[in-house]
Amino acid sequence: MTTIFGKIIKRELPADIVYEDDHIIAIKDIAPLAPVHILIMPKKEIKNIQSVKPEDLPLLQEIFAVAQKLAEEHDVEESYRLLTNNGTEAGQTIFHLHFHLIGGERLGPMA
Ligand code: 5GP
Repeated sequence: MTTIFGKIIKRELPADIVYEDDHIIAIKDIAPLAPVHILIMPKKEIKNIQSVKPEDLPLLQEIFAVAQKLAEEHDVEESYRLLTNNGTEAGQTIFHLHFHLIGGERLGPMA
């Protein structure tokens, strides 16, 4: 099922895109939790990390490489959090796999 992120990828909804290639897109979070809050995701519609299939694993490699690049570009490479929520109880609200890159200030404890 197409989500908000699917529509952003298809340019049916606007977003502040900070990175894009054939497989990956990264956008600024609309409600940032810290000075840097970027969402990095595959263009392929994958529900969440638990739905990743072996053939999708190269996408995760690409996402981690994009996270490193964006962390450097945003001057947070020394300290940032990279996380994904899997399922409603874990806080997932949009069911298109995405990783939050959060930084730019001292981060509070998880959960
Ligand atoms: P989740 O809760 O699924 O882990 O993360 C969803 C994230 O998407 C939230 O941090 C939320 O602020 C962000 N978000 C929700 N709707 C939009 C939108 O339309 N555009 C952007 N850029 N981010 C969104």
